[in-house]
Parts: sequence; C-alpha cells; structure tokens
Amino acid sequence: MSLRSVTILGSTGSIGVNTLDVISRHPDRFRVFALSACSRIEELALQCEKFRPRFAALPGVVHADALRERLEKAGCKTQVLAGDTALSEVAAHVDTDVVMASIVGAAGLPSSLAAARAGKTVLLANKEALVMAGRIFMNAVHDNGATLLPIDSEHNAIFQSLPRQFGDGLSNVGVRKIILTASGGPFRTRPISELHGVTPDQACAHPNWVMGRKISVDSATMMNKGLEVIEAHWLFNAPAEMIEVVLHPQSIVHSMVEYLDGSVIAQLGNPDMRTPIAYGLGFPDRIEAGVGALDLAKAGKLEFMSMDTGRFPCVRLAYDALALGGTAPAVLNAANEVAVDAFLNGVLSFMEIPRVIEDVLRNTTISPGETLSDILAADSIARAAARERIKRFALQQTTVN
Ligand code: NAD
Ligand code: MG
Repeated sequence: MSLRSVTILGSTGSIGVNTLDVISRHPDRFRVFALSACSRIEELALQCEKFRPRFAALPGVVHADALRERLEKAGCKTQVLAGDTALSEVAAHVDTDVVMASIVGAAGLPSSLAAARAGKTVLLANKEALVMAGRIFMNAVHDNGATLLPIDSEHNAIFQSLPRQFGDGLSNVGVRKIILTASGGPFRTRPISELHGVTPDQACAHPNWVMGRKISVDSATMMNKGLEVIEAHWLFNAPAEMIEVVLHPQSIVHSMVEYLDGSVIAQLGNPDMRTPIAYGLGFPDRIEAGVGALDLAKAGKLEFMSMDTGRFPCVRLAYDALALGGTAPAVLNAANEVAVDAFLNGVLSFMEIPRVIEDVLRNTTISPGETLSDILAADSIARAAARERIKRFALQQTTVN
C-alpha cells in the first residue's frame, strides 16, 4: 500500500480535527503534507508538532510570523507559507494527492478550486465553494481528471447510495429522486414567537452534531439544508425537482436515493463526521474511523416528517436562488455569511437573518456568472448590500426604542 499525501485546508476546524483523528489511526496509509488555518496559531502549532507536515499555510502574514517563531522554538521543521495564494499553492502542490477542503465559507473557494484544477482527489466539506461556483467547480473537476468525494454527511450518504456510473445521468441509472434528511436543528419545535430573542449559543447548541459556529447557525435557520440542495444539484447533476428535503430529528439516516422501481437506498450511521471523512480518505476501501457501532435497538424510533417552510424560509430562498441560476446562489451565500456573522456578533436578531438574505437576493442584479471573477464580484456586491440592510435594521431598531 502506498502512502497517500494529504493536505488539510482548515485543519483547526471541526472537520479538520476529525480528519486528523482518522489519519492518526492509519500511519501506514497517510502522511500529512500540509496543514492550514486562519488564526488559531497554538492549535496549528500543536498539530504541526504532532504530524510534522512539510508545510503550514496561513492567509495572514502576522499569524504566519507568529507560527514560524513558535515552531522554531519547538524545533519543528515545518515550513510556514503566508498570503492569499499560499493555501492554493499547497492544495495544488505536485507532492500532495488528497486535499481535504474544510475551510468554512467563501474563503475556501480559491483553494478548493485550486485542488480541483490540479486534478487532486478533493474531499469536499466546504459546501459554500460549490454553492457559489458550482458550474466552474464541476468543470474544473471534469477537465482536470480530479476525483471529487463529498464529505457533507448527506451527500456522502447519497454518493454511497448511488451506483458508481451516476455521472451518466440520474435518469439513466433509474433514480427518481434524492431525499436529503434534515434534523431540523435546535429550534424545530420551539414556538416561532420565541425565536426572536434566541442567542448565538442557543442557536449553536445542535441536538446531534458538534460543528463550527457558522454551520451551526445555518442548521438552526435551515439555510444549511438550502445550501445542501444546491450542493446536491451540482454534485449529482440533479434538477431541483428531483431533490426533496425530509425532517428526520435523529440524524441516523443520513440521506436516501429513491429509484424508479420503488426501492429506497439509504446510508445509516451514528452522527459522527469521522464516518464520511474515513469514507473519503479510504475510497474505494473502507477503513476504521473510530466510530462506534450503530445500535438501532437503542436508537429505538426513527421519525420522518415534512418540513414547514413557514418556519424555515431559508430553504425556500435557496430553491429560489437555484431556479434563478447564474450568480444567484453566490448572492444567497454571501448575504447569508454576512447575516450569520452579524447574528453571531449580536448585531442582528435570529429572525432577521432570512429577511436580510431575501432582501439582498430580490434586489441584486443576477448575471450568468460564467467566470470566477463574475462570481467573486457578485459575492462582494451582495456582501455590501447585506451590510447596508443590516445597518438599516439597526437604525429601525433604535428609532423604535
Ligand atoms: P470551523 O469553523 O470549525 O473551521 C473552519 C476552518 O476554516 C478553521 O480551520 C479556520 O481556521 C479556517 N478558516 C476560517 N476562515 C478562514 C479564512 N478566511 N482563510 C483560511 N482559513 C479559514 O468549521 P467546520 O464546522 O469545520 O466546517 C468547515 C466546512 O465544512 C464548512 O464549509 C461546513 O459547512 C462544512 N461541513 C462541516 C460539518 C461539520 O460537522 N462541522 C459537516 C458538514 C459540512
Ligand atoms: Mg450536512
């Protein structure tokens, strides 16, 4: 078995840490080539000392200098690279085979795309990259012979439930629809009247998964599921009408594929991201992930129910953006990132998140978005519009008070 050389973009995050956990169980299969983070220098330093990667890459020069100094003191030979292009450089490096794309948000797009353009095996957790630039990303994968393996648990489940030749077209392999499961997050049953005052910590307290704060808020608004509908559209070349969302509070059935003959194939497991991560790292082999066996008798009930779009308008907004096409999903994503950030920083209330996104989506000019610079331009216009909208909300608030 040859050693596979792995780069982790966003190694200090929830997905990054879980990836290193799986890797540490298989020293005979993987070596860490490069790690990257944004600001958590001490965590990154400890990872470098443990895994001894050739490179550590950070976007900011100041943080990179601090890491370099810290590693020199520890006698760690990892080379520290800095700047916006450093992450793309390690992702496309000739000596890396596998790239775990696990930076959160639009910030992950350039490096995830660089890995695809360099023909790597890309383990994609960074769903925002596909939402923003789905066509460009998928073309980069196909044109450069990259292997794209979805890490998002739902898409990983769908990938596992589809035949290998699904790229020929879903109808050609007998698929009727893709069914994404959604836990419904922490506010699935809370009266809507109580949602106005919820705090960031309440929104981040997911009942089943431990995740970064941005995706945790996305799960509470269910924009996460909206982004996943768009992600599924690109990954599986599935039209919107073939993608359905069903609530499943236990998060044990990670998603399903329904076939023409009435068969429904699902992937089940404990809600632990090390399962899809190990699937991606080992593919096509199955490898130990450190995840306990699923005890169905203990789980007892598996419930399914339809989704209330009145409670969760973000899912409808994502379907709208998908129907609009072009730069609309990038606009949706950018407005969401700004609104979630404002909520996490206490300047926007939870219920105003979808209002900001809807306002930006309805009032921004959508273009075909054929090039990366079109997408990035749409992203920055939408961010500015969202910030304006949030300021207006804040003003209204002070006038009312
Ligand atoms: P996280 O917040 O825990 O970690 C994010 C990582 O990205 C950190 O290493 C951080 O240093 C890095 N980062 C943040 N901003 C950056 C920037 N501007 N430049 C470079 N690096 C930057 O997030 P997470 O929960 O691990 O999620 C990562 C991605 O995986 C997201 O796209 C999320 O939607 C997706 N995902 C996560 C889970 C999960 O269980 N956590 C499940 C499915 C999909
Ligand atoms: Mg998911």
